[in-house]
Amino acid sequence: MAKIIDGREISAAVKQQIKEDVVSLYKQGIEVGLAVIIVGDDPASKVYVANKEKACEQLGITSYKYALPAETTNEELLSLIEKLNNDKKVNGILCQLPLPKHLDEKLIINSIVPEKDVDAFHPQNVGKIMIGDFDFLPCTPAGVIEMIKYSGIEMSGKKCVVVGRSNIVGKPMAMLLLHNNATVTVCHSRTVNLKEECANADILVVAIGKAKFVTADMVKEGAIVIDVGMDRDENGKLCGDVDFDSVSQKAGAITPVPGGVGPMTIAMLMKNTLTAAKKQNSK
Ligand code: NAP
Repeated sequence: MAKIIDGREISAAVKQQIKEDVVSLYKQGIEVGLAVIIVGDDPASKVYVANKEKACEQLGITSYKYALPAETTNEELLSLIEKLNNDKKVNGILCQLPLPKHLDEKLIINSIVPEKDVDAFHPQNVGKIMIGDFDFLPCTPAGVIEMIKYSGIEMSGKKCVVVGRSNIVGKPMAMLLLHNNATVTVCHSRTVNLKEECANADILVVAIGKAKFVTADMVKEGAIVIDVGMDRDENGKLCGDVDFDSVSQKAGAITPVPGGVGPMTIAMLMKNTLTAAKKQNSK
């Protein structure tokens, strides 16, 4: 049976450190603030935003929530973001995705000033990640790296396979593994011989959004398996992209869903907000 990499335990340790830093800033007269914008009534987005607000509260970070109606226009959203860009109390701005279809996601993301872009989605921050000179890392891939390091797993020289190439998870994940000296293969829906590619991995990171897609025959004996997926199984129960029951019999270590990558993503968002506050107050 694989060792379970416990995202709840690791995120608690990360958050404890953040909390101490937030208190120390507070003693210097600096309050840390995060603005969270949600447009419309998407139930999953509402849950994510509620979890982010809860984490802020736990850590002493002030959260400013803007819940806007689904019919909000680009102009209205841009005007709010401009106001927040110029608000000194707000260190980080997060616009919960996906936005309703009529809104221009790219335009909205690009309108957040890079110094407050705590999701690290702005092209300037994405470019900085590419050259390894970054202020913020995208929360989910950063959370995965933190989990691997915390678990004492070496990345240098290891064969890492990332399944999925989204801008939010797969691509930055591959880049961060590369920065940690891994030899990285990125797979996607057009990959030929996906099973063989996965079975070569010392560290396998899966982010495709397909419930229980990765089965034991796709995994090398003793491999480290990181499951980013947040899916629903045939009974509507939350599960990952990896078939945990079979893969955990073969892997050396594995992240569960829930309780794996999810809590780490939120912890990293808090870390980015703290970093933003420190940088903005050091000028
Ligand atoms: P996405 O934008 O839909 O991208 C999915 C990627 O998976 C695409 O690159 C796609 O390939 C690839 N893919 C789809 N089917 C495949 C297949 N059969 N074989 C190989 N590759 C395949 O998804 P995402 O935003 O990256 O999210 C992925 C999963 O992670 C979702 O379950 C999401 O809910 C979850 N997630 C979790 C967290 C967290 O905090 N735990 C955060 C973000 C996302 P193509 O490019 O060729 O289409």
